[in-house]
Amino acid sequence: MSQIKRIQHFIGGEFVAAPDARYFDKRSPVDGSVIAHIAEASAAEVNAAVQAARTALKGEWGKLSTDQRVDLLYGVANEITRRFDDFVAAEMADTGQPSHVQTHVFIPRGAANFKVFADVIKNVAAESFRMATPDGRGALNYAIRNPKGVIGVVAPWNAPFLLMTWKVGPALACGNTVVVKPSEETPLTATLLGEVMNTVGMPKGVYNVVNGFGPDSAGEFLTRHPKVDAITFTGETRTGTAIMKAAAEGMRDISFELGGKNAGIVFADCNFEAAIDGIFRSAFLNTGQVCLGTERVYVERPIFERFVTALKAKVEGVRYGRPEDHASTYGPLISQEHRDKVLSYYQKAMDEGATLVTGGGVPDMPADLAGGSWVQPTIWTGLPETAAVVREEIFGPCCHVRPFDSEDEVIELANDNEYGLATTIWTENLSRAHRVAERVEVGVTWVNSWFLRDLRTPFGGSKQSGIGREGGVHSLEFYTETRNVCIKL
Ligand code: NAD
Repeated sequence: MSQIKRIQHFIGGEFVAAPDARYFDKRSPVDGSVIAHIAEASAAEVNAAVQAARTALKGEWGKLSTDQRVDLLYGVANEITRRFDDFVAAEMADTGQPSHVQTHVFIPRGAANFKVFADVIKNVAAESFRMATPDGRGALNYAIRNPKGVIGVVAPWNAPFLLMTWKVGPALACGNTVVVKPSEETPLTATLLGEVMNTVGMPKGVYNVVNGFGPDSAGEFLTRHPKVDAITFTGETRTGTAIMKAAAEGMRDISFELGGKNAGIVFADCNFEAAIDGIFRSAFLNTGQVCLGTERVYVERPIFERFVTALKAKVEGVRYGRPEDHASTYGPLISQEHRDKVLSYYQKAMDEGATLVTGGGVPDMPADLAGGSWVQPTIWTGLPETAAVVREEIFGPCCHVRPFDSEDEVIELANDNEYGLATTIWTENLSRAHRVAERVEVGVTWVNSWFLRDLRTPFGGSKQSGIGREGGVHSLEFYTETRNVCIKL
């Protein structure tokens, strides 16, 4: 019996697709088998989703009090938790990543994204100023926040549910409606969330999903649509450029979380074991497909050799396997296409004269997994900073490790990149940690940790890693239109 799912769009509270819709295959990253047929939205279907979202703004949803919206968002979070196993299974099928990543990080964070922003909106205060006037009576100014309208959410494949809900949670908390375009590689959890919305009684049209690709497909139809008021996007910097051009038409607001080429800085005075664990996780979690991941590692010279040896041992201990197998610690890349890209960088590293510490190719897999997009986790040393694998985002399980001799030198090295998303600093010297954190040109700095986030803090990238900050009250800046009311007293 076929297990292949048929994935449609979610428009106005219904799962729909045109009778003549084109369906494309979604393949398992684990073994290459087809697991779903996904409808590709036409411009007319994207338009229907945007219209449903506009209509919902003026209907029941637009009339709810903040408390009622908050209750609904809590309901969504609770229903995600009730259907936890379904979400874990869907995300594992789409991404091939081990169950522990889904159960400990990605799915709980997806549920939290609804609760946290419900709390933020409930507790946010309005700004007010009393001003003097020539007649001595004065005037009172106060700010009100209105929803921006219909938000287009364009999501990537690397942590699909976490990253999509990170946008949908605050957008709905602020009273907007959304049309989500999940990645063509990972549509399953966005679809499941449609079921959740119906179960909790979310008004029809508040949450919509259109499936398809980017250029000349659902992504472009959505971002060019004149009735989309603002666009929030997570993905590659190159795609961000295309979306920014689309958003320029009609002066639509954007919030972008883009690529990274993040530096990990390891000082000789670090807690060695913690630094090894942290760099290992930051470079290889999710098979290196994390925007915040560390592909450039700088290690202070006195501990360089010892560090490379210990990291190599750790990397060689990963256990390949199916995501449902609890013994697996390491999954495949998202697709064969992405594997080709990563392997092309593995080749470039060797062409440019790298010393291969470990990995560098495709592992021997048992027959049932041979069709998956597996690559070996890889470490290089010995490359100049001009090498492609040191400069460009690979988005794979690999890092280049280089020694450094001084604080000034390593800050210079870390900053010498067009991206500016995240840095990790490993040191037991408190003053040094503060000094370096202040000088690295990134949006997020971790000291002696990685991927640790309080959702109320500002998140986003500098330089070519993003535009805007989201998280806690910072999200309100993007998802609401702040207006001032001035009352003459
Ligand atoms: P991508 O840019 O290829 O695709 C992201 C989404 O954009 C997909 O839904 C895709 O269909 C859509 N898209 C592509 N072209 C489009 C177009 N012209 N118009 C409208 N939509 C279009 O990114 P990806 O490969 O899915 O994800 C990996 C990238 O995302 C990496 O660069 C990674 O660093 C970045 N990322 C950044 C963050 C962050 O917070 N800064 C988080 C996760 C991923």
